[in-house]
Amino acid sequence: MIESCGVPHPEVDLILVNGMPVDFDYGVMSDAEIELYPPGIGHPHFKEKRLQIATIGRFVADGHLGRLTRNLRLLGFDVAYDSQAQDRQLLAVMKHENRALLTRDRRLLMYAIVKTGYYPRSQNADEQTIEVIRRFDLLGSIAPFTRCLRCNAPLQKVAKADIIEKLEPLTKIYYEQFRRCTGCRQIYWAGSHFTKLQKRLGQIRINFGS
Ligand SMILES: [Zn+2]
Repeated sequence: MIESCGVPHPEVDLILVNGMPVDFDYGVMSDAEIELYPPGIGHPHFKEKRLQIATIGRFVADGHLGRLTRNLRLLGFDVAYDSQAQDRQLLAVMKHENRALLTRDRRLLMYAIVKTGYYPRSQNADEQTIEVIRRFDLLGSIAPFTRCLRCNAPLQKVAKADIIEKLEPLTKIYYEQFRRCTGCRQIYWAGSHFTKLQKRLGQIRINFGS
């Protein structure tokens, strides 16, 4: 009934029928006053009747959310992403790898198989990033510069001597600290990546008033 009004079930954290909390399988038999509360905001009571997981740090994002994916990886979060992925692949990765589904397709969030998911309201990737951090309570888990932006694998510190032949001449001169992707072997250093990252982090922290 709720979904027929256009609200996907992963966006509903608390349902009150005539003031009493109920689960998704509750059948409405007669006229009733139904209140819905989204995760995060809302009702001060019924904490034990919440229907959504409050925090999760593993995601799968739909093919339209490439920039959001990059932002979240930059902050250290594990985001599976394939720009060509079909709906059923997204749902399979979500289920088998226990990830929350991030999608701008509300219909997709309505599949019964979806336990945890989120529909970013904004079309802007930086705003979407803030929304996801807020929805899944991730501010304290941000670990910049720990995950590969290209393939999502963790980064590992690497000695300059071990990679020196792969560096451009100016990078060789100006940088000392390097990390290498444990998946695709891409090398990262505190150059332009880092400056952009600091700027974004600053913007995010301003949004959270910290
Ligand atoms: Zn990589």
